Amino acid sequence: MDYVFLGTGAAEAIPCYYCRCSYCNYARQHGGKDVRSRSSFRIDGRYQIDFSPDIFHQTSSLGLDTFELEHLFITHTHEDHFDLAEIIVKECAVEENNKPLRIYLSASGTVWAKKMMHAYAGQFSLSDQKRLQERYQFVPLEYFQVYEADGLKFRTVKGNHSGFGDGEYAINYLFELPNGKNLLYAVDTGWYSDETWDYLKGIGKTLDVLIMECTFGGREDRGFYVGGHLDVINFLIMLEKMSTLGVIGPETAIYATHINHKHHLMHEHMQQTFDQSDYKVTVAYDGLCINEVVQK
Ligand SMILES: [Zn+2]
Ligand SMILES: [Zn+2]
Ligand SMILES: [Zn+2]
Repeated sequence: MDYVFLGTGAAEAIPCYYCRCSYCNYARQHGGKDVRSRSSFRIDGRYQIDFSPDIFHQTSSLGLDTFELEHLFITHTHEDHFDLAEIIVKECAVEENNKPLRIYLSASGTVWAKKMMHAYAGQFSLSDQKRLQERYQFVPLEYFQVYEADGLKFRTVKGNHSGFGDGEYAINYLFELPNGKNLLYAVDTGWYSDETWDYLKGIGKTLDVLIMECTFGGREDRGFYVGGHLDVINFLIMLEKMSTLGVIGPETAIYATHINHKHHLMHEHMQQTFDQSDYKVTVAYDGLCINEVVQK
């Protein structure tokens, strides 16, 4: 499993443990694709996007581990995407890769993350704190730049979704995979600002894979072109704009992820809704492996 959705839920996951709405009740009763842990995606063992509070459940249920993880791309500091306490569980491993973990974040997200690390590290001795600094290397990123992580080229696309950091916006990562394919992980995003549209257009590449949030699913009362999060309606107008700009084409494999319970479309119904649209969209689910699509 190289390219796999570890989780496809939003902040509170599905079923939300505090909630007995009909959506959560259904998911609780029926399980399957309607149970969604917090969003995260794995690009072979060495790279991963986001690290959620559900990492234990995700790895254990899929028979995976994070032994090989060396590069962690954090979209933003919200707790469903960046759980630092879970990340430093590496300190509890008896046999591990003994390599530092590089944690990529927006510059403002990094400031916030370092404060959090400082709070956690306070319980350790000074020498252990120094060790932590060496083992967890925060890499601050600017928006709209090209970077490389040990051979993996990526671009930082600015999302329209704030994080906990001062002035932080989520980074949507556009990867150029080793086989030359382009994959955009657009979580969390909202309707892009003009500078982001201009940037995507300027790159002049058509995506092979687009993974995008559809947080509010079937909600129809949120208006058009909304920031923060998408729903099916806004997901589709994003696709329309992307299509106009050549960012996606007929061959682009499109996935919807980061889905919450505050609407009425269960997995199957959301898939049917997309099937009736002009675009070929697959509603992702936890554990979905897309190796065949990426490596085609
Ligand atoms: Zn989120
Ligand atoms: Zn609920
Ligand atoms: Zn968020």
